[in-house]
Amino acid sequence: MPSFRPRAGVTPSTESTATMNPLLDFSGLPRYSEVKPEQVTPAVDQLLGENRALVETLCGPSTPPTWEAFVAPMEDANERLSRAWGQVSHLHSVLDSPELREVYNANLPRITQYYAELGQHQGLFLKFKALAASAAYAALSPARRKIVDNELRDFRLGGAELPEADKPRFMAIQEELSKHSAKFEENLLDATNAWSKFITDEAELAGLPDDAKAMFREMAEADGSLANTPGFKLNLQAPSFMPILQYCENRGLREEMYRAYTTRASEYGAETLDNTPLIARILELRAEAARLLGFASYAQVSLEPKMAETPAEVLDFLENLATRAKPYAERDMAELRDYAAKELSLTDLQAWDVAFASEKLREARYAFSENEVKQYFPEPRALAGLFRVIETLYGLDIREDAAPVWHEDVKFFAIRDRSGQLIGQFYLDLYARDTKRGGAWMDDAITRRRKGEAIQTPVAYLNCNFTRPVGGKPALLTHDDVITLFHEFGHGLHHLLTRVEDLGVSGINGVEWDAVELPSQFMENFCWEWDVVKHMTGHVDTGEPLPRDLFDKMLAAKNFQAGMQTVRQIEFALFDMHLHHDLPPGKTALDLLREIRQRVAVVHPPEYNRFPNNFSHIFAGGYAAGYYSYKWAEVLSADAYSLFEENGQLSGVLNPDIGHRFWSEILAQGGARPAIESFKAFRGREPTIDALLRHNGMA
Ligand SMILES: [Zn+2]
Repeated sequence: MPSFRPRAGVTPSTESTATMNPLLDFSGLPRYSEVKPEQVTPAVDQLLGENRALVETLCGPSTPPTWEAFVAPMEDANERLSRAWGQVSHLHSVLDSPELREVYNANLPRITQYYAELGQHQGLFLKFKALAASAAYAALSPARRKIVDNELRDFRLGGAELPEADKPRFMAIQEELSKHSAKFEENLLDATNAWSKFITDEAELAGLPDDAKAMFREMAEADGSLANTPGFKLNLQAPSFMPILQYCENRGLREEMYRAYTTRASEYGAETLDNTPLIARILELRAEAARLLGFASYAQVSLEPKMAETPAEVLDFLENLATRAKPYAERDMAELRDYAAKELSLTDLQAWDVAFASEKLREARYAFSENEVKQYFPEPRALAGLFRVIETLYGLDIREDAAPVWHEDVKFFAIRDRSGQLIGQFYLDLYARDTKRGGAWMDDAITRRRKGEAIQTPVAYLNCNFTRPVGGKPALLTHDDVITLFHEFGHGLHHLLTRVEDLGVSGINGVEWDAVELPSQFMENFCWEWDVVKHMTGHVDTGEPLPRDLFDKMLAAKNFQAGMQTVRQIEFALFDMHLHHDLPPGKTALDLLREIRQRVAVVHPPEYNRFPNNFSHIFAGGYAAGYYSYKWAEVLSADAYSLFEENGQLSGVLNPDIGHRFWSEILAQGGARPAIESFKAFRGREPTIDALLRHNGMA
């Protein structure tokens, strides 16, 4: 049943065509059973036309700079576009077809262009400024003031406040940067694909699992140049490179591939694919853009919309974590060297031996079969266990519900409070399909907001790529799958349990980028809690719960080499932050990385290693001066979870009192207030790194 009341004040044209084009019907849940590719372009045409006309009206002198006259209609219009286009891009992700892909690709640049126009629109900027300067601003709710502040901040960072004389240069920098970032990624891809190796003697691949060898054989067969010669083809893509480094007993082959992999897109390969000059140029341009905006470094620009306040705060955080983790990393490394020398006759452990020796040590110490564990996690048990956690912590009920869906695999659920009040709904699409993109993700279908007298309740998509049921048995999830499921539900609950009534900061909207993984990583903790796990397992044949000794082995394996992994992440994060904050003139990125490794790392790669040349997170992705976020969010989520642990001694970790506090201080708040305030309101103090270290066995 559609759960939404009719919208107040919709644009008449939208309403009248709603019955014809389901993408233009915003009265309830998406009508997935009726959506067709040929409806996409007309819907986008109509919405873009209406929205652009509205923007011009709103920027005109007859529109007063108030929430009701200016912000509210803009929000309504953008919500319509994002709901319509959200269905198209969702279908593109989960039920791809040639027809849909064609209309998706044809319309995506139009949508991107529209949002870019809004971001640069001087009229909108001036109107927001007028609103912020008016007496009406002070009377707005904190959530609405936050939305206005966020808008002004984004306009400023986009160059809207620059002197006219500087604007062309600023725009030229942005264009050049996006060109260089794209080229960085292309070079890396081309350099990765430029290398391959054929092997005819299977003995050279000793140690590899059969499925990896089968994959290499298929790759050789697919390559015409090796017709009729039985053999194996290796390349530098992760599914090929990783198993060689991890399992291949042939040390020479490991070294050869390691060298090829770590020198991609550098001066060791084709000059046209060398990323070294791009790195220097990208850093130069980012620094120049930062100067134009009035910041001392690009790192400061990057941190402006984030939870961390200053580069110094991030650097302190990372250095502190490094100091605490380093002794454990050294211990991990000493153990590994010792084991490699005694058991594997590797007396001079090199960078290309680390993954191999680690795998052998892990097997020797924590051997258990993933396949054995899987038998205890049939999907219905795992889901029931997840729902039990949510229902107990927050006093909610989760029941299957009916809605039009895009595929027969998809289930739909409603979350209600104990009085029966609808809180939100979600789609659950768990299995891999060849029409679905990889990975697991949460996306919003409808966001909570007030509409006149009524509340529009939120709806989420939860998507995974688990193995579908076979042989009449339920799907079996690995423990990693279960963790993934909990993680995505953390994002889902952030979206669904919000109590904010304004779109721009409702749910995950407007949440600082380095805090957005708090609720998701928080949920993962429950997968390591015996009291929770024992309730969500039952052997697929016998119904027996997971044996405690098997769980203990899983727990012991969880923190294997946690020290080494931590300092590696810190090395990358320190490199990224210094690079964008205080790289001295005349020093290269590679010089900086070597200095940081001297201090922080326990694995010292060979001189030829050119890691910066393939660090696309920061040169081609959105992680510049943001790589620290991984550890930052882990600290927040571990520290938040530790309050459940502290109070769980008697009653267990599923404590409803603390659950309600987590809900009301963190999940409910969305982006309506700074994440640090939400954290402190929940935890009663500033975050500390102790819980993360303890969870990783480093206390
Ligand atoms: Zn996540």
